[in-house]
Formats: sequence, C-alpha cells, structure tokens
Amino acid sequence: MALASVAPTTAKAAEAPAKTDANLLFVNGTVLTPQGTAEAIAVRDGAIVAVGSSADVLKLPHAGATTVDLQGRTLMPGLYDMHVHVYPAGQAKLACKIPQGAGAPVIFATVKACAAKAKPGAWITGGSWVAAALKPGEQTRQLLDRAAPDNPVMLDDESLHSVWVNSRALQLGGITRATANPAGGVIDRDAKGEPTGVLREAAARNLLAVLPPVPIDQQVAAIKAATDEMLSYGIIGFTDAAIRRDGAEAYARFAATGGLRQYARGCAVWGPNSGGSEGLVAARQDYSKGRFQLDCVKMFLDGVPLEGRTAVMLQPYEPRHGEHGSDGTGGEKGLMMVPPDKLNAAVTDFDRQGLLVKFHAAGDGAVREAADAIAAARKANGWGGQHHEVGHNTFIDPADVPRGRELHFTWELSPYIWWPTPITSVDIAAAVGPERMKRLWPARDVIESGANVVTGSDWPVVPSVNPWLALETLVTRQVPGATGAPINEGQRITREQALALMTRNAAAEMGRLDRGGTIEVGKLADVIIVDRNPLTAPVGTIHQARVIRTYIAGELVWSSEGNAKP
Ligand SMILES: [Zn+2]
Repeated sequence: MALASVAPTTAKAAEAPAKTDANLLFVNGTVLTPQGTAEAIAVRDGAIVAVGSSADVLKLPHAGATTVDLQGRTLMPGLYDMHVHVYPAGQAKLACKIPQGAGAPVIFATVKACAAKAKPGAWITGGSWVAAALKPGEQTRQLLDRAAPDNPVMLDDESLHSVWVNSRALQLGGITRATANPAGGVIDRDAKGEPTGVLREAAARNLLAVLPPVPIDQQVAAIKAATDEMLSYGIIGFTDAAIRRDGAEAYARFAATGGLRQYARGCAVWGPNSGGSEGLVAARQDYSKGRFQLDCVKMFLDGVPLEGRTAVMLQPYEPRHGEHGSDGTGGEKGLMMVPPDKLNAAVTDFDRQGLLVKFHAAGDGAVREAADAIAAARKANGWGGQHHEVGHNTFIDPADVPRGRELHFTWELSPYIWWPTPITSVDIAAAVGPERMKRLWPARDVIESGANVVTGSDWPVVPSVNPWLALETLVTRQVPGATGAPINEGQRITREQALALMTRNAAAEMGRLDRGGTIEVGKLADVIIVDRNPLTAPVGTIHQARVIRTYIAGELVWSSEGNAKP
C-alpha cells in the first residue's frame, strides 16, 4: 500500500513560503520520542521544528510543504549499525552468489549463469561452497571448466580458508602438478597427482595475488549496493570496521559525489607491523569527504572463540574431544595479536591525536587488554580523548564490566547472533564450556554498568544486516519469532533499551547526539517510517518489521514503494 503524500498543500497558490515555514510534515502516525509517543512532526530545512498532535502540527505555517500521511504507521529515529564491512558485503552482493549449502548441480548452474554475464577472460569470483554439501569426487576443476570455459573462476568456501578454482585460474596462478605445496598451504591433488582445483590456506592466498585489482568504479558500485541495502532496513548511520587503502579511495569518491547518504565512520586497519596503517591514518583528511569520516583506527587483538580457539580467554579453553593421550587443552588460551607494550603505546598515541580506537576483542582476555590499553592512554593523555570502542565482547570478565564506565569507553556488541545458533550453542559452547556460556554476550550487565553500549551486525560475517532481527533477539535471546529456549536469558534487555543501543547511544558514539539519535525539536529529521511499532508489536514479529521510507536530514533517501515489496 502506498503512503498518501499530499504535496504541495499551499493555501493560496501565489503565496510564497516564508523562511520560517515548515516544508515537510508527517501526520497521523505513532511518533516515537524520548517523551513518549506523538502523532506528528514538522521539519524545516532538514531539522525538526515541532513534535505534537497532528492538529497542532498542521496549524503551523507550512506554505508549499509536503505532507506525509502516516496512516497510523510508526515514525521513529533511523538506526545505526556500528560494525559493518560495507565493501566486502557489497562485493558479495555483486559477486557470483552460490546458494547456501548448494550441491554440485546448483553450483554448476550458478557459475554457468555468472559466466553468461561475464566478459570472456574476466575473473568470476564468489562463493561460498560448503564441503559437506558435496559428494566425494564432485569437487573438481573440470566441473567449473564446463560451467565457465572462457573465464577463470575462483569460489571461496564458507570459512574463507579455501578456494575452488578452474583450470584457467590454476594456469594464471602458475599452479601445475609440479608445484609443491607452499609453506602453510595445501594444493589438493587427485589420484594421478593432478591439482583438483581446491587450494587451502596459503595456497589459496597465493592465487589471490594474481587477481587483477578491482577497478575503482566496481568498488564504488559495491559500496553503493551495500549502503542501499542498509537504507532499505532503515540504517542511516554506520561504522565501517575495517578500511584499507582501496576501500578508502572508493568511499572518498562515493562520498564526495554525494552518493553516500548515511553518516559513516571508517576505521583504518592498524597492526603492529603495518607502518601506520599503510599511511591511511596520516592521510585521513584526503578521504574524509561528504558524510564519510575516516577518524578511527581498528586493532585486531584476537580471533574468535570457535573451534580454532583464537579468541584470547583468561582461563584455558575446554579440552578438545578426541585428544586422549595429550593434555588436550595445552593450557590453550588463544593468541594475542598485539603485544601489550606495543598496544598501549599505539593506543596512547592515537588517543593523543584525537582518533577513536576500535578494538576487535572477542575473548575476555582480549577485552581486558583493550581496557588496560585505554587506561594507559587516559593516564598519559587525560580524559579529553575519544570514547574508544571495545568491539564484539563475546565474553567479558565480571571484574571488567565496570571499566567501560570508569574509563569512558563504549561496548560494541556484535555480531547479531544473540540467540541459539550452531555457532553459539554448539561451537562456542564446546570451546568454553557451560559455566562461561552463562556470560555469553552480557548485554544487560554492560548496560546496567552505566557505560555507553552500541551494536553492530558485522555483516557480511553474518548473512543479514537486518537490524530488526537484532532488536528482537536482544530482547528475547530466542530464535527469531520468539520460539525455543533462550540463550543466557539473564542478559535479556527491554525493547526500549535495545532501541536506544541502535539510535541514541550510537548517535552519541558518532559525536552527533546533538543532531540525531532521537526525534526532538532541533535535531535533524533522520527518521524512518515502519509498518509496526517495535515497542508494542508482538515481540516475535519485530524481526519482520518492514521499513516503508528512510529519510536523512529530511531528505527521502529510500522508499519501498518504488521496489518490488508491496
Ligand atoms: Zn568485523
């Protein structure tokens, strides 16, 4: 159903709008404000000038204004995603997309269709395949040769540790039966010793090096594809959690030409040996254009608490199954990626420069290292720096929970998997055991500690950027639809709390709470029209909420009405 958009509603056609007239009205809706619900708002030049009843708002001078009749729908603040990887997400959207868990016939048909659209000789990249869905002997380079005889093909597996390529790709990579396995990599071979087309770890990475660089137009197209998808879910601001030189160039071009609609922060990836993040940090003003701000540095402190056990934990992981005869755990606590002295020095330096530091810290040991580094920076520089972000926080030691508030840093909870999934209930549970599972994603604890708390999807690490899925499951901790047993239900939060994480708190973290994050007079109209009120709809339906329109600073930037959705 289309929204009635009555425009213009001039009283007298000849009357020119006065400077003080509102030029955009939203009436007859449920408007979510910090003071409760209202029916209507008036907007002038992108800013909210009135919030109240429809009758009151319509009484305001509004010559020539556009009036949007909400027809009872909800008008609420636009949402923020504080941890997203826009470029890879967009690339995945544009790449050759294999349906999840596809068997060989579907993979063949998919690649064939992609080849039909590709220029001869152009690389076809995409993914992902799951080894378990393929029968023994099916996964051959010859299958891909038949699907795409004129193109090199490279398909990632689900874990991004292996690739499946065709003969042309092997040729371009110089890989033959005579090629030895590289250090840390494997070239799978058939009974005759010929490469099958499956390359693992370093063998896969070596092939990546022969891929031609992605043209900047294509990078911009990927960023546009991803940001458009986010607008369709009502996401009006985001933090890109890992920017490299390529991505930065593309963002700058996209933002400078007005293509980027959202408020965006980029975090340049930094490592102890990267020499100042490829110069990106020093050159950040070259890339900060339009609504894109490159003012953040990303540091990876650990990995993930899955079967690889790369997240840094304070206590050892559980013994592995089938490891009889060895000590099993080996006191395994994960591997810290940055030595503490280097970490503290770098964080202190970036803090002094006014940069925000965003940490990848999944295990409670990495979280502690991050908090310690922030403490070192505060000690050296005082309290005038940024609210740094400790991200992921799959586990936080109870002793560290108050430190976000004490040290003025923000907890960023990601990715959106706060409900029972094979990742949480099987993989993480097996790695850390039942006691620590009671501390999985302590959303309520960190909120009640009084610190700022925000959320991020980590898309495309998770398959969907849908923030409504996150909003619901922060409240239920159940499978979407509010079914089944919850996971760590003591950490459930209220709907109001969940909404604040994605609106008010995120705007504060972006340094724009004076302009956004809530619907109040004086703020910009960063608002969305939604088909239901997430504060009152049956909780198990929140994940199905559909955004009808997205506005940023009063400008309509996305509408479902022009799309296939009814
Ligand atoms: Zn991430």
